[in-house]
Amino acid sequence: MALQMRGECGHCHAQVAPEGEAWICVFECTFCPQCAGSIQHVCPNCGGELVRRPRPNPARAAGQATA
Ligand SMILES: [Zn+2]
Ligand SMILES: [Zn+2]
Repeated sequence: MALQMRGECGHCHAQVAPEGEAWICVFECTFCPQCAGSIQHVCPNCGGELVRRPRPNPARAAGQATA
């Protein structure tokens, strides 16, 4: 089974923005917040726990970080 689902919810196939909220399992199965909630934060593919994916800092990405 392919595990390359980055950028797309593995449950409803909605697009998950790189800077948006997403939930991932240890194998990087990706889920949108709605599906993560409905599957009770347990990956349906591997049975692992889903954790919230860290988001990049927009200010840092723009090269204008001051702190
Ligand atoms: Zn979804
Ligand atoms: Zn998984």
